[in-house]
Amino acid sequence: MTMTCSGCGWSVPPHELRPFRCPDSGSDDTDHVLVRRIDDGAIDDDPDPFIRYRRRMHISQGVDDRQYIDVVRRLEDRIEKVDGRRFTITPFVEHGGFWIKDETHNVAGSHKARHLMGVLIWLELHGIGAPLAIASCGNAAYAASILARATHRRLDVYVPAGVNTDRIEANIIRCQRRTGERGDPAYLRFREAVAQKYASRDEVKDNRDETRELLERIEARLNEINTYLMQANKP
Ligand SMILES: [Zn+2]
Repeated sequence: MTMTCSGCGWSVPPHELRPFRCPDSGSDDTDHVLVRRIDDGAIDDDPDPFIRYRRRMHISQGVDDRQYIDVVRRLEDRIEKVDGRRFTITPFVEHGGFWIKDETHNVAGSHKARHLMGVLIWLELHGIGAPLAIASCGNAAYAASILARATHRRLDVYVPAGVNTDRIEANIIRCQRRTGERGDPAYLRFREAVAQKYASRDEVKDNRDETRELLERIEARLNEINTYLMQANKP
């Protein structure tokens, strides 16, 4: 799959690990929206769509193929333990002259978990143990709660005040409309929290510190090897 910015023509490099936005986004008045083009990558004969179509998905790029498959299968096993279902090809049936794509047998009983699964695979592939958050009051929140429980991640669900959340097992944050506010208050609080709260969470910081320490250790080792080689090469 290729993703290209419709605003400036920039293409996401194939092995880019964070393919979420154009680097020029927000720098001018242009709408830097990434649009995707699905290439003719080979399809595997596997009932799991995340394995079957992996060569057409960006998340599998730049990752060892066996490692990718292992991560997906391990996730599926854990999801099945929580929900009793795993991701499979969606049945497509004809009924009374209509073609029906029946999503009700999917994980969490709707198509929502499928969209979230792509993000979860990405997080697991790159060892990012960050907490999760979503603004939703229905199927998406329920789907997110299944995936979060399967991976023992904290999930904050932002919902409008007064919504029934009985079946959602997560940390529920009820959002009242502020005076004069327009738009969905749950979505607005969610955006605020992503901008402020999650960016400074300890888990994210630890992850960055860990990466920095690892890079420092690698650099120190390379310097050692370099010094050794220079001495060995002296006449
Ligand atoms: Zn752009």
